[in-house]
Amino acid sequence: MRYTSTRDRTISCTFEEAICSGYAPDGGLFVPEELPVISVATLQEWAKLDFAQLAQTVLRLFVSESEVSAPELSNIVTYEGFAPAVVPLQRVGSLYVAELFHGPTFCFKDLGMRAVVRFLSLFATKRRQHRTLLVSTTGDTGPAAVQAVSDAKNPFLTLLVHYPDGQISSFQRKQLTTTDSPQVHVVAFEGGGDDMDRPIKNMLQSPGSHWTGVNSYNIGRPLMQMIHYIWTYLRVAEREEWEIGKQKLDIILPTGAMGNLAGGYMAKKMGIPLGKLCSGVNVNDITHRVMQTGAFHSSPCMLKTLSDAINIQIPYNFERILFYLTEQNDRLVREWMTQVDATQKLDLSTEWLQQLQQDFDSARISDEDMCTITRRVWNEHHYLMDPHTAVAMGAAETLGYFGKTAAVFATASPCKFEESVTMAVGKDTWDLFEQSDQFPASARAMLFQPERPPTIYRNNRSLSLYENQRQWEEQARQIVATLENMA
Ligand SMILES: *Cc1c(COP(=O)(O)O)cnc(C)c1O
Repeated sequence: MRYTSTRDRTISCTFEEAICSGYAPDGGLFVPEELPVISVATLQEWAKLDFAQLAQTVLRLFVSESEVSAPELSNIVTYEGFAPAVVPLQRVGSLYVAELFHGPTFCFKDLGMRAVVRFLSLFATKRRQHRTLLVSTTGDTGPAAVQAVSDAKNPFLTLLVHYPDGQISSFQRKQLTTTDSPQVHVVAFEGGGDDMDRPIKNMLQSPGSHWTGVNSYNIGRPLMQMIHYIWTYLRVAEREEWEIGKQKLDIILPTGAMGNLAGGYMAKKMGIPLGKLCSGVNVNDITHRVMQTGAFHSSPCMLKTLSDAINIQIPYNFERILFYLTEQNDRLVREWMTQVDATQKLDLSTEWLQQLQQDFDSARISDEDMCTITRRVWNEHHYLMDPHTAVAMGAAETLGYFGKTAAVFATASPCKFEESVTMAVGKDTWDLFEQSDQFPASARAMLFQPERPPTIYRNNRSLSLYENQRQWEEQARQIVATLENMA
């Protein structure tokens, strides 16, 4: 399988080139040159596979044997340390909750990030070429990347990770700052959740860049995230005794950069029987606004919320969604995205909005509503949710899914969000949870490790955001140069 750009389908790259860069050379996002079509018969076969087998089988469709051999692929897609199962499904009333957070950093991002980092590690070793990974995190991408890079123990890889100072939970911060991996460098920047996206994009697109962005603009992430949907569909079909392919499954998930959502849309376009894909968002609600009104407008500022991991002003994977919405119309996507890049705005016509609404729906859940639904689900079902899963659950309620069969994606463990969970259910319930065997032992252990202070990128108030971003980019370039000299 070769890869092309959402903005120009004459571009053609290998999988290695696509996953190793991040953005496509024209500033678009990489997508596979074609999406395979999955028949009902194939899905029936896939129903027999465990998670790792399914992941391997799906990935094989997108990664040729000539680039990654079968044994290499099976080493990349392993889930040791995921407990009690890779992705167990829980029942909450009529809904199925697919718990995607049983990896080493207690967030769904482990599922994709570990594979992406292992691919990069494999290619770096094969080529004996050093590779620096760049990441900006609103909370959970960073820890997943740090853990994956530390575990890879490959001297050819280094990671520079950025998080917005004061805008991630103390647990997440510790996940970043307690690492002792010489491969990892951590920076806190004094800005909003996605303010480092532009500097990183500039770095990745500068001529001769041999750096790799591993946020979900990297095609490896949505490719891996398709598997969440296929797995969830198959498990729900099994429990509901559906004849595969006869019924469609609606899925409700907390949405930030739309990476997970883009994976779902690709799965749907491949013929996986998915119904509506529904985004739960917080008050940073651009995704909700575009799905309800067609207005894709970045808001002037980032609002602080109790679900920081989905604080976003411009969800970059909307570009992939537009690409598939328009039946892979690269010319139109280029026109639209050039406008977004220039003005941070796009208004979809009524016609396109209607198309979008056939496949997607959304709800905006305030912190207050998020706390209410967390309490309610705890009281009624004795099920404790992290604030992001709670946003999805709130969306499920708002969109009328209570009492119906549908699936909610649980994207993080509540153990990461003491501040928000306590706010929702009170300190007594938190303490009960913290002392229970539901609270992962490795999470408890991490809390007692010493922190290494991160590098800080200052916000100079006399400068505009754009000017600050220029300075941060300069600082990032210097750190990378130092790291590469050491390697
Ligand atoms: C990253 C994240 C999300 C949002 O996922 P996207 O792919 O960015 O939309 C949701 N929940 C949690 C806990 C996350 O860390």
